[in-house]
Amino acid sequence: MSETGELAELAKRRGFFFPSNDAYGGTAGFYTYGPEGATLKRNIEDVWRDIFVRELDNMELEAPTIMPEAVFEASGHLDGFDDMIIECGECGATHRADHLVEDAVEAIEDAEALGTERVAELLTEHGIVCPSCGAELADEPVEEFNLMFATNIGPGSGSPGYLRPETAQGIFVEFPRLKEYARNQLPFGVAQVGRAYRNEISPRRALVRVREFTQAELEHFIDPEHDEPPIEWVEDVELPLYSARAQQADDGDIEYYTVGEAVDAGVIESEWVAYYLGRSMAFYDRIGIDMDRFRYRQHLSGERAHYAADCWDAETELGGNWIEVTGFAYRSDYDLSKHGEYSDESFTIFRQYDEPRTIERAVVDPDMSYLGPEFGGDAAEIAEALESLAGRDRSAFDGEEVTVEVGDTSYTVPVEKTGFTVEEQTEAGEHITPHVVEPSFGVDRLVYSVLIHTHDADTVDGETRSFLELPAELAPTTVAVVPLMAKDGLDDRAREIAETLRTEGFEVAYDDTGNIGRRYRRQDEVGTPYCVTIDYETAEDDTVTVRERDSTDQTRVEIEALPDVLDRLVGGETLAEL
Ligand code: ATP
Repeated sequence: MSETGELAELAKRRGFFFPSNDAYGGTAGFYTYGPEGATLKRNIEDVWRDIFVRELDNMELEAPTIMPEAVFEASGHLDGFDDMIIECGECGATHRADHLVEDAVEAIEDAEALGTERVAELLTEHGIVCPSCGAELADEPVEEFNLMFATNIGPGSGSPGYLRPETAQGIFVEFPRLKEYARNQLPFGVAQVGRAYRNEISPRRALVRVREFTQAELEHFIDPEHDEPPIEWVEDVELPLYSARAQQADDGDIEYYTVGEAVDAGVIESEWVAYYLGRSMAFYDRIGIDMDRFRYRQHLSGERAHYAADCWDAETELGGNWIEVTGFAYRSDYDLSKHGEYSDESFTIFRQYDEPRTIERAVVDPDMSYLGPEFGGDAAEIAEALESLAGRDRSAFDGEEVTVEVGDTSYTVPVEKTGFTVEEQTEAGEHITPHVVEPSFGVDRLVYSVLIHTHDADTVDGETRSFLELPAELAPTTVAVVPLMAKDGLDDRAREIAETLRTEGFEVAYDDTGNIGRRYRRQDEVGTPYCVTIDYETAEDDTVTVRERDSTDQTRVEIEALPDVLDRLVGGETLAEL
């Protein structure tokens, strides 16, 4: 069985995740996390918070998942958040047209960047068929399909809303308030971990492409002229980079650069993006991603949004495919400018000058008793046009007359009637629109990657053992307490020890069903790093056996010392080192 197939089987059987609503025939693109998976996911989110909120000293918020249409008009999602869809003329099934091309044509890795027309041509040229019924898709139209789930806010249809397709907008729209919490000082970062919804055309590959998923996003607001990342913290961190250049070369592959080298060589354009690629390495490593199956891939120029300066994706290799788990983008001032333009609020921040500056400002004070009779209903617009022209080009007022355009008409006004003067003003600062650097993590794809990368098998006592080499801080259960027999008081003693360890703060499971070997296997399979076994010797000398998942080593430990021993093990020591 393939590694993804094996994992899907394990995930369902042991309660990590499984397709939702099976009792009603299932709903494609929705998964439920079972008891093990829900805890694993939360533990991954907690590590993310530990690094991206606590360590980096950012704020965290929690915004609603439904937002009004106006937000998505401003963000561009209403018009542009589309994927390419093709409907089979024979069976009516719908598919992601670009993915069909990528699957069929090895040389094409990113068909979306080619546009709908070219993708339609490629479907014809390569004789690509419908995956559902095998009919040829040649000549079927390829169209854009908006991925947002629409709803109505309140009764009736007067107030359309959408389930957010990314958590980021919930941060951007609150910028006017958030800047106050940041005492109007840049830079500052705002994080959010929450659900996002996309009506994916063809959900697939288990948790990789689902219709409801969790994102962990950080929006770092910076002053583009003055703020620089503390690159020295990460300059020696080595990055596996798959640059745009390498992707386009025949024999291009991952190349290793330190953050410092990648910036100096211009491989990564934005220092801020380089900084976050460096900071994130510790995160992936800490949650158990196999760093030999991990890379940062640069977007090709056709792939990234027009406003994004440099974009890189973190990708993990799963079952032979590279999957994006995080997008890193320098988003410039795009998001805040758009919300500033579409809403009534100010999405700028006041940047104080080091010293107040005296500046000359050209202003007008048009003589309306002249403009009114002369230009009638157009007078007010002419006055506005004069004001804007003075701000843009004061030399236009050098002569006797000045000409302004209102709509398609030119109007000429004597300069003496415009009240044009140049004033000196002292200013303490200026309003700027911050730029945004965004690392955007897909938690479900991380859960899936961690499970696949930590899933291993070996032979113990002549039997094949399947286990998850989960880092201790991630494992849903840290320690399983198992009595050798569920009798002779061993079970009571084991329950007591389990209770004590719980009060010490450990995640503890108690298990007394089946033979001891089978219980160890059960715990190995869900990634429990330690088992504590209570046997007949325990009653005599107050000691227990501690068993380590990865090495299967066992050592006797005094019950009193157990919390301390477990603490050291969770902290990274091995039984052999104790
Ligand atoms: P893709 O190209 O795979 O559709 P994307 O580039 O649209 O992904 P982003 O908008 O950058 O994704 O979203 C940030 C992160 O959210 C991704 O790196 C991914 O981990 C996660 N993500 C996006 N769409 C889905 C989905 N349908 N199911 C699960 N996770 C997703």
